[in-house]
Amino acid sequence: MRLSKTLLPTLKEDPVEAQIVSHKLMLRAGMIRQLGAGIYNWLPLGLRVLRKVENIVRQEMDKAGAQEVLMPAVQPAELWQETGRWEQYGVELLRFKDRGGRDFCFGPTHEEVITDLVRNELRSYKQLPANFYQIQSKFRDEVRPRFGIMRGREFLMKDAYSYDLDQESLDNSYDLMFKAYQNIFKSCGLSFRAVEADTGAIGGSDSHEFHVLAESGEDAIASCNSCDYAANLEKAEAGTPKAIPSPTKEQMQKIATPEAKTIDEVSEFFTVTPDKTVKSLLVKTDEGPFMLLLRGDHELNEIKASNFLDGNNFSLLEPEEVKNITGVSVGSLGPVGAKLPVIADLSLANNSGFICGANEDGYHLTGVNWERDLPKPKFADLRNVQVGDSCSRCGSGTLRLDRGIEVGHVFKLGDKYTKSMGMTVLNQLGREQTPLMGCYGIGVSRIVAAAIEQNHDDNGIVWPISLAPFHVEILLINPKEEAAANLANDIYKQLQDSGLEPLLDDRNERIGVKFKDADLIGAPIRVVIGGRGIKEGAVEVQSRVDGSSEKVVLDKVAELLINRAKNLLSV
Ligand code: ATP
Ligand code: MG
Repeated sequence: MRLSKTLLPTLKEDPVEAQIVSHKLMLRAGMIRQLGAGIYNWLPLGLRVLRKVENIVRQEMDKAGAQEVLMPAVQPAELWQETGRWEQYGVELLRFKDRGGRDFCFGPTHEEVITDLVRNELRSYKQLPANFYQIQSKFRDEVRPRFGIMRGREFLMKDAYSYDLDQESLDNSYDLMFKAYQNIFKSCGLSFRAVEADTGAIGGSDSHEFHVLAESGEDAIASCNSCDYAANLEKAEAGTPKAIPSPTKEQMQKIATPEAKTIDEVSEFFTVTPDKTVKSLLVKTDEGPFMLLLRGDHELNEIKASNFLDGNNFSLLEPEEVKNITGVSVGSLGPVGAKLPVIADLSLANNSGFICGANEDGYHLTGVNWERDLPKPKFADLRNVQVGDSCSRCGSGTLRLDRGIEVGHVFKLGDKYTKSMGMTVLNQLGREQTPLMGCYGIGVSRIVAAAIEQNHDDNGIVWPISLAPFHVEILLINPKEEAAANLANDIYKQLQDSGLEPLLDDRNERIGVKFKDADLIGAPIRVVIGGRGIKEGAVEVQSRVDGSSEKVVLDKVAELLINRAKNLLSV
């Protein structure tokens, strides 16, 4: 590509609307421009990278035996009504009517459409296992679209759906996808981790997310320093504490604590560390309110709590609601004498002599023991794991936490969609059988942003070669110098002829601007061609990755660039 003929509107300053590095750099490098909240135009530079990701994904999906299809973005409501998701999906589903008043949505995902297709086309076990994928725009009316295309409303996804006759076969299809995903993220040059993920409303079956590790990630990822256990914080299991302290002999006492409401205030009042206190939280589900107990220094994991209570519409109660239901203010709530069902976090199972609210405004209880002072409640894993917690899987390692960007998600769906949509095939015995389904998503556009989060410096993007919009940038200092321009054009042509993708900066711009833009755009290899170099018989080849540079004699330049780029591409 010749820069003089390309729409590549770079910006000198960080745009004020961008908070994270990838968003800033994508705007500054002229890769994207916003059209509306969470909706973006992809400009030539951005699109080149997006296509690179797409191609890597496509290659690996094909290799894994999946078949590419393309389904409509616009989907009739009837299909969503069949599975019940027309009601369940909520406000993220963009719904609209056609001129005949019929309901439609813009697809946020395609389980219904693909299952409708295959229930008509797949009739026999002989056609299974089958896996279909597409690379296509999705729309989700996200509450908080942000970080540019990282969390857009319209975004590009690769979604795949597998159909298998039985569980063993589904497990196999899932493993195939798992491996394909590892290859994809490796090929994209990303540092990533596969983690166990919550299966949410569908429940039960396996699910893994693939996270690109980056500070700006919206997810927290727990992993063990000794075994290979890794899970999203939403799901990471806390181990049961081993020590079983003997119950304290200290009597339970009620103490006036007029100013102490928060855990910090209570700990300070009693001069204890927060782990000696117990906090009581009120939540509700469709089945009514519950009291949850956590150690003072622990955080509630709402997903675990909601899964455990198995109720719909789980929510934490507001202070006014708590007061209305219990007659007690939030800061003095406690389990002794509570009239609600109580569920305590596992870490409290062996606790004794703890401090908690007295269920009376302005009072706390000290020296509280299970059984002696209140009935032992039900225990469940309700909390977020913390750094240094012992690993629930191996027992010997400890957990660390990292930030991650979710770029992929694989999920065993079971028969949720095939059953509700009445998809069957004839099995070996000639009987109708409901196949099991898996679904596999990759955030194709999100990968572009995630790659930048991991590969940049103060001056701009440093592309891994597999995603680089250009392998080599030829920086022509002054296009009016004929000899230099000729050499630049010649190298440009040779690179193209050898199958590489060069960018030639042949603009009439100041040299400083060209260098700045080259850093911003981030082609891994750069060659600087000017009159002086030609006179001296050598030009400078630079690496965007480590900043190194070397002089190369004129007639060896093209060959060196080709070899270097091809070497990088082959690793
Ligand atoms: P998230 O928790 O980030 O909202 P999700 O669990 O809703 O993701 P899936 O339904 O599993 O996402 O979609 C598959 C993939 O699509 C995700 O792993 C992610 O990479 C990508 N993705 C999901 N929502 C968005 C979005 N709003 N913008 C860009 N990519 C997205
Ligand atoms: Mg989402």
